[in-house]
Amino acid sequence: MTRMTSFSDGTIVPVLGQGTWMIGDDPKTRDTEQQALSRGLDLGLSLIDTAELYGDGRAERLVGEVIQSHRDEVFLVSKIRPENAGEMTMMLHAEKSLERLGVDRIDLYLLHWESRFPMEEIVAGFEELIDEGMIARWGVSNLDLRAMNRLMEVEGGEHCATNQLLYNLGSRGIEFDLLPWQQEHLQPVMAYSPLGRGGLLEHPALLAVADRHDATPAQIALAAVLRQDGVVAIPKASTVAHVEANAAALEIELDHEDIEALDRAFPPPATAQPLDII
Ligand code: NAP
Repeated sequence: MTRMTSFSDGTIVPVLGQGTWMIGDDPKTRDTEQQALSRGLDLGLSLIDTAELYGDGRAERLVGEVIQSHRDEVFLVSKIRPENAGEMTMMLHAEKSLERLGVDRIDLYLLHWESRFPMEEIVAGFEELIDEGMIARWGVSNLDLRAMNRLMEVEGGEHCATNQLLYNLGSRGIEFDLLPWQQEHLQPVMAYSPLGRGGLLEHPALLAVADRHDATPAQIALAAVLRQDGVVAIPKASTVAHVEANAAALEIELDHEDIEALDRAFPPPATAQPLDII
């Protein structure tokens, strides 16, 4: 079963995608990582998140090999490093990403985190890439609520499709204000590190809820993030077994008792929090 959500332009994407940070770095594990991403595509996890930063382009190259024969099925997300997002360099870096990915268009191109270049310049650069047909839409990552409000005042800023954010049970600050803001603006939150980079998975509360569902803690961590509307989770998995387990998390429905137990262990924010960033 694939659950979907939509961007404000009506484009539909699955709520569960695949991350690629730390993938493609080691020649010994490359084949296994490719098999994992391919299996994810078979299972409908067709949104793939990568970045020029990851392995200095190695992750984009690996993704490019995997999607070659599936280009039309894949919703491809990549990111530009903030120091490359000025008017003199953005197009060159987008071209390099396209080349490594082996595609002529990126579906969603993100500013990886806030830049010293003014947002006016960055938005104009993104819009030019759209005009050139190199990207279909653009968004940001790691911007807090204040920065998002500022972005909405920039000409064209309302075209921002998403804000990719750290969001998992151990990092719930955005539930107070930024997640509702993005839901209202029809800008899905792309939840990065939804498994807390693996660090959450030994937590006794997660183990207890997992037991009740005959599931794993990773699956419960994903189900917890995905129960919110307008969230796309992008776990990174480098084995077929992990990808299959993650896809199966879409079937899990947490009940009232589960949510209470998780809220006791990982309390939701009661006040505005500074944005968590990795
Ligand atoms: P994550 O997805 O929270 O966790 C990845 C870890 O969880 C890996 O060790 C992985 O192991 C393990 N794992 C995956 N599926 C599992 C399963 N079913 N059971 C047990 N363990 C499992 O961490 P992340 O890689 O930091 O975040 C995901 C993606 O978000 C990244 O890959 C990247 O695309 C994106 N991201 C974006 C930003 C940003 O600034 N925009 C920052 C960080 C991450 P294996 O590898 O062995 O499968």
